[in-house]
Amino acid sequence: MKYVLVTGGVVSGLGKGVTASSIGLILQACGLRVTSIKIDPYLNTDAGTMSPFEHGEVFVLDDGGEVDLDLGNYERFLDIKLTRDNNITTGKIYQSVIDKERRGDYLGKTVQVVPHITDAIQEWIERVAAIPVDGKDGPADVCVIELGGTIGDIESMPFIEALGQFSYRVGAGNFCLVHVSLVPVLNVVGEQKTKPTQHSVRGLRSLGLTPNILACRSTKKLAEDVKDKISRFCHVPVENVITLYDVSNIWHVPLLLRDQKAHEAILRVLNLKGVVKEPVFGEWIRRAELCDKLHDPVRVAMVGKYTGLSDSYLSVLKALLHASVACHRKLCVDWVPAGDLEDITAEENPDNYERAWKLLKGADAVLVPGGFGDRGVEGKILAAKYARRNRIPYLGICLGMQIAVIEFARSVLGLKDANSTEFDPNTPNPCVIFMPEGSKTHMGGTMRLGSRRTYFQDLDCISAKLYGNKKSIDERHRHRYEVNPEMVEQLEDAGLRFTGKDESGSRMEIIELPTHPYFVGAQFHPEFKSRPGKPSALFLGLIAAACGQLDVLLKKEVPKVHSINSSNGKTLIKHKFTNGPILANASFEVYCNGNGIHV
Ligand code: GLN
Repeated sequence: MKYVLVTGGVVSGLGKGVTASSIGLILQACGLRVTSIKIDPYLNTDAGTMSPFEHGEVFVLDDGGEVDLDLGNYERFLDIKLTRDNNITTGKIYQSVIDKERRGDYLGKTVQVVPHITDAIQEWIERVAAIPVDGKDGPADVCVIELGGTIGDIESMPFIEALGQFSYRVGAGNFCLVHVSLVPVLNVVGEQKTKPTQHSVRGLRSLGLTPNILACRSTKKLAEDVKDKISRFCHVPVENVITLYDVSNIWHVPLLLRDQKAHEAILRVLNLKGVVKEPVFGEWIRRAELCDKLHDPVRVAMVGKYTGLSDSYLSVLKALLHASVACHRKLCVDWVPAGDLEDITAEENPDNYERAWKLLKGADAVLVPGGFGDRGVEGKILAAKYARRNRIPYLGICLGMQIAVIEFARSVLGLKDANSTEFDPNTPNPCVIFMPEGSKTHMGGTMRLGSRRTYFQDLDCISAKLYGNKKSIDERHRHRYEVNPEMVEQLEDAGLRFTGKDESGSRMEIIELPTHPYFVGAQFHPEFKSRPGKPSALFLGLIAAACGQLDVLLKKEVPKVHSINSSNGKTLIKHKFTNGPILANASFEVYCNGNGIHV
């Protein structure tokens, strides 16, 4: 096993996660099997109890692990499936060491940071790096480890010490340290300043780690003399100084690394040069370029507890992007703070109220993402009502599905005070209720979490068709409440369809309104399994419906003849769908010549 450690210096938020994922991707493109580990030096055991407004969204894995959003970046870039143990936190390490101490495993010794915590970190890394994550047998070739935080943080000290020992233990040729740093540009003179990088590398060295490669974030490419200076002061060969300058979309970052031969530098350090092939990116490049060229917008109103941090809904945004690119549309997300849609805002802050409704009414599609707590719930219900009544494509995820059920119960069944017991424990019409397997007293890891199976009730529904007419699908969950099984019949009689249920048939997984062009809700979170080039089915359905491409996607529309041209005894017939191409091969050509018809 070879290890690539990615650390960060100067400031946080440099895009270390994207850099580490891009390094993984370029190594994968060279033919290597890659896994990854993210280290978060905070004390929480996992991200489960953290608000998405702290470090961004809580990403959910197949095994139910509630982890840092960077694991989502790894899964999307590398198309792998990680486990909860691929996210190490200080809390997890200390818990494992304290558990051992209580069992008496340390045989009466004093338990200390060095060597017990540092050993536990190294053992954890070695154990987890060997877990296959790409569906193949046996361990990967390379493990990319990202150390969260910034060099010099007090809480990351035990990890730095452990990684220093680890690099020595696995030996030169098996360990490559990539340090991501910042080269700021001072506006007055436009000069690229190297001092912060010099300081940061000095800090790294003083802690016993030596960088092999420097990845410098800057607005523009580093000037040659700036690179020379960094090389000289930081004792890193000039060809190992890479610039990560601003690019139009993050899919360009692996290409930036390739153009600067970062893979060659890493492979040299890992003694793999000559063993592997030149990187082949295939579709990745086409997609990165296509994304820049899209100009026809699709406007999606995201109705949530928006506080200015788009990271709080990162996977939802990525899933929307994957779907929009597949439909050849430029994604425009309008953030609608749910609370601003409520009547009370009309009185207290009419400008916000007007703005929120204007955004909602200007959207081609409405999305209500997952959420907890009652803030903004009534606004979300109003958004679902608006989408249902005005036949605007709607996707409700987890809470968004529960909201849609509440709205339907109120408006269509006339149960005025229908609600979820999460928001109104005494509601006389509880259409969403607490689930037996949840806990109200313990918050971390006590929900219905991770991959669960959904069975389609019959294949004649939009969601089953979008999922390729499979009988069942596996998607990731994270919830405590569910649709009240006792109210299902009543809701169904009024026209709401529960097209997907769990294996017992009593837990509702997908809702649809057959009389609406696209009104879908899912109890699971499809966004966690969306990948570039493999958009999640329900997101693709939403965007296709918003662009008038749903019939094509569901193969209801037959392409029409667009033009017929004849020359040199050949006839060229071009076909086109009403709303333009949806996939690369959606329009095709038919040639007629003496030998017959060729498609
Ligand atoms: N709060 C709701 C529940 O616990 C929805 C959760 C979510 O959207 N992830 O069921």
